Amino acid sequence: MTRHVVVIGGGPAGAAAAESALRHGARVTLIDSNEQLGGQYNRRIPADYRVRRPLSIGHGYADADYRARFLAGHPRCEWLAWASVYQIEQHADGSCPAVRVLQGPEGEQRTLRVVQGDALVIATGAYDRVCPFPGWDLPGVYTAGAAQTLAKTQRVLVGRSVLLSGTGPFLLPVAQSLAVGGATVTAVLEANPGRHILRHWGARPWELRHSLGKAGELIEYAVCGVRHRIPLRTSSAVIAVAGDGRAEEATIARLDENWTPIPGSRTTVAVDAVAVSHGFTPQHELALAAGARLDPGGFVRVDHTQRTTAENVWAAGEITGIGGAQVSGVEGAVAGIAAAGGDPTADRALTARHRTAQQFVARLAAAHPPPARRAGLVATRDRDLPLRGHHPRRAGRRLDPHRRRRLPARQARHPRRAGSLPGPHVRGQYRCAARTFLSRRDGRRRPGRRHTRLASARRAGTAARTRGTRQ
Ligand SMILES: Cc1cc2nc3c(=O)[nH]c(=O)nc-3n(C[C@H](O)[C@H](O)[C@H](O)COP(=O)(O)OP(=O)(O)OC[C@H]3O[C@@H](n4cnc5c(N)ncnc54)[C@H](O)[C@@H]3O)c2cc1C
Repeated sequence: MTRHVVVIGGGPAGAAAAESALRHGARVTLIDSNEQLGGQYNRRIPADYRVRRPLSIGHGYADADYRARFLAGHPRCEWLAWASVYQIEQHADGSCPAVRVLQGPEGEQRTLRVVQGDALVIATGAYDRVCPFPGWDLPGVYTAGAAQTLAKTQRVLVGRSVLLSGTGPFLLPVAQSLAVGGATVTAVLEANPGRHILRHWGARPWELRHSLGKAGELIEYAVCGVRHRIPLRTSSAVIAVAGDGRAEEATIARLDENWTPIPGSRTTVAVDAVAVSHGFTPQHELALAAGARLDPGGFVRVDHTQRTTAENVWAAGEITGIGGAQVSGVEGAVAGIAAAGGDPTADRALTARHRTAQQFVARLAAAHPPPARRAGLVATRDRDLPLRGHHPRRAGRRLDPHRRRRLPARQARHPRRAGSLPGPHVRGQYRCAARTFLSRRDGRRRPGRRHTRLASARRAGTAARTRGTRQ
C-alpha cells in the first residue's frame, strides 16, 4: 500500500523531504504557510510584483525552481500553499499524529482541514535570535532576518546606512543584500574573535568537501564586501542604540572572549538602522506538540535517519540544528526516504553527505557559539552604560574576577559570594545607569553631538582612572 507522508514546511528541508518521499513511491501532502516554495533561503518577490531583476538578491533559485516544478507537477503530490498548521493531535495508539490546517491567504475566507498521514516530516525552520541591549526596542533596530526578508521580498531597505552586529555567517548575505540594494553598510560586527573562528573553520578541511557550494557564496560575499568597502570587525558588537524616538546612534565596543565589553573601547557611530542576529532559535513548537523531545541544545532530537523520539515523526532542517540551506536539504532527503518506508543508509553517497552535514552543524556551533555560552554581553550590559554621579573608586576594594565589577568590601572578603546578588554599592550603580538611560530615551536630557563627545571623553577619563585603580 502507498504510504502517505505529510510534510510541514516548504523550505529547503521540507521540499527535499517531499521530493525524496515521492521518488520512493509515497503519496505526499506538502503544507507551507507561504505562497511559494523555498522557505527563508529562497524567499522571493511575490508573483504580482514587477521588478527589473527579481533574482538579483539571494541564491539557489534554479534548484528551488526545478524542485517546485517537480512537486507541482507530480500526480502523487498535493501541495497546500498559504496553509498554516495550527494544531497537531497525537493518537493514543501511537499512530501518526493528525495535522490541522488553516488554508487560504490571510484576510480572506480560510478553510479548515485535517490531514491524516502514515508518517509526518516536520521542517518548520528557525527564527532569529537576538541578545538584548539598551535601545534594542527602538524603531530602526531590526533582526538581520527581517532586514533580509524585506530586501529579498519587497526590495525595501531598513535604512540608508545600516550597521550589522551579531555572530555567524548569516550576517554576510544580509550585508550583501543591503549593499546590492543601495544601502551603505557601515560595518559588519562579529562578536567572536577572528582567531577562534579561523581555528574552527580551518580544522579538518576535508570535512568541508560537500560544502563547496557555500565556498562559492563566501567568495561572492567577500568580493561584495571589498567592492562596497564594508569593514568586517571581529570581537566587536553594538552594545547600545540611542536616538530621539528611533535609532540614530549606535555604541560599539570591543569584546573579550566572553563577549564582555572591554572598558575604554567604546565608540559611537551615526546610523539609520541597526540589524542584529546572534544565530537562530529552532521553531519546534509543532514537533513538541507531536511528542518529539529536544536535545540539550534545544533542537529536536533525531537519529541517523532524522527520526524523532515520537512514533512516525521525522524532523529535518534548522529545527534539528543550524547548518544553512544545503545541510537542511540533505537532512530533508534523508527524512523523506525514511518516512516513505525506505532505508536512507542504502544510498552511500547520501549517507556520506549526511555525515558531513552533521559535522558542518557542529562546526558552525563551535565557531559561532550561541550567546548562552558567551554571556558577557548580556550580563554586563547595564554596567557598560555611562555612569553619572558615581565615583568608581568608592564602589569597593576588590574586583569580581568573573564580572570585572567592583564588589563591596563585605562580598569581596568572601570569594564564594562573588557571583551572588550585587551589594548596595553595585545596586546604586545599576540604578544610576538605568536612570541615565531612561532619561535619555525620554528625551529629558538627550545629549547633542557636542555633549556626546564630552560625555565620551569623560567616560574615557573614568575608564582610565578605573584602570589606574585596578593596577
Ligand atoms: C528570517 C530569516 C531569513 C533567512 N535568510 C537567509 C538567507 O537569505 N540566506 C541564507 O543562507 N540563510 C537564510 N536564513 C537561514 C535559513 O533559515 C536556512 O538557510 C534555510 O532556509 C533553512 O531551511 P529549513 O527548510 O530548515 O527552514 P525554512 O527555510 O525556514 O523553511 C521552513 C518553512 O516552514 C514553514 N512553516 C513554519 N511553520 C509552519 C506552520 N505552522 N505551518 C505551515 N508552514 C510552516 C515556513 O513558512 C517555511 O517556509 C534565514 C533565516 C531566517 C529566520
